[in-house]
Amino acid sequence: MGVTGLTLPEEYGGEDGSLVDLVFAIEELSAAMMPVASTLALHLGVATVIEQFGTEAQREEFLPSMAAYETVGALGLSEENAGSDKTGIETVAERDGDEWLLSGHKRWVTNFFDADYVLTYAKTGLNSEAPNNISAFLVPAEEFQVDHVWDTLGARSVKSPKVSLADARVPDDRRIGEVGEAYVRRGQLNTGVNVPARAVGLARAALEDVIEYTSDREQFDRPLADFQGLRWQVADMVKSLDAARLLTLRAADAADRGNDTTREFAVAKIYATEKAVDVTNDALQLHGGIGFTAAQDVERYLRDARLLTIAGGPNAVHRDTLADAVFSRRVS
Ligand SMILES: Cc1cc2nc3c(=O)[nH]c(=O)nc-3n(C[C@H](O)[C@H](O)[C@H](O)COP(=O)(O)OP(=O)(O)OC[C@H]3O[C@@H](n4cnc5c(N)ncnc54)[C@H](O)[C@@H]3O)c2cc1C
Repeated sequence: MGVTGLTLPEEYGGEDGSLVDLVFAIEELSAAMMPVASTLALHLGVATVIEQFGTEAQREEFLPSMAAYETVGALGLSEENAGSDKTGIETVAERDGDEWLLSGHKRWVTNFFDADYVLTYAKTGLNSEAPNNISAFLVPAEEFQVDHVWDTLGARSVKSPKVSLADARVPDDRRIGEVGEAYVRRGQLNTGVNVPARAVGLARAALEDVIEYTSDREQFDRPLADFQGLRWQVADMVKSLDAARLLTLRAADAADRGNDTTREFAVAKIYATEKAVDVTNDALQLHGGIGFTAAQDVERYLRDARLLTIAGGPNAVHRDTLADAVFSRRVS
């Protein structure tokens, strides 16, 4: 269906889709199986970095096979001491002629086991130059050693292990973007809209299951859906879902128009992910005891939704970004 190259340019085998298109695709995938949407979003995110900051030779080499999902990308940004604050990255890249020697570790590399390349962020400059001291390299997945694979509360079908590198030789033509500019330029990417879109997909799936289940299940000689208390709860779930979807589409549309999206992205991320936790939690409650079992999908929606207030940066950090944006506008 072209989804794996959805937002990539047609000239490199993509579909030239907008971020609004991406939101719809991610919502659909997430409603069925959230980690599949994560995998696609991260893959497209890596491809977008190559498209926007790579050389023409790199675009021609990687994008057509990435659009076809024959070459798969994963993101190696977070580390043990670089979670919310990515300037704490300790992986280093040292120049050696036409190559770089990379050593260090990455953790939470989603889809690592299916990836061909990990877009690996590493320090190439002094701490005093932060944040302009981090560069990005496309490192073949086989250069990494797997250190740990976590059992997670949710998102279980795609693993996000801790992996490490020891003096891995990476040619300079696998460096994506200018030396020292990789982390700073991540701020120009608009791919973050996929996290709220995943939240919308989970909330939608949970709501659809609730409507079906409570219409069919009878107690006190009536379908559960006849009870006003339950109907009002469902009405509130619909309200949350619609607002989350509209805020996510607003953020995507603003990005597609080339507008500043600081406020729109932060609002969508915080609102959609927190409402996804609320809606999936309510959905489990409305399924009663069977909702607490793996016989129904609602317990999975709730476990998967719980990731989204953390992944893509914890909501606390997005609240900081939002407040900073609002206050700085008043000052300026
Ligand atoms: C399943 C999974 C998949 C992931 N996939 C990837 C991936 O593919 N690639 C990748 O690079 N990373 C990935 N991540 C990493 C993810 O982006 C980080 O977990 C996230 O950025 C938070 O970092 P941390 O876990 O180290 O939390 P920490 O930075 O240690 O923060 C812990 C908590 O402290 C609070 N906090 C932090 N900062 C502030 C602040 N400024 N103000 C107030 N409170 C604050 C928040 O409540 C936060 O949740 C993944 C994570 C998970 C769990």
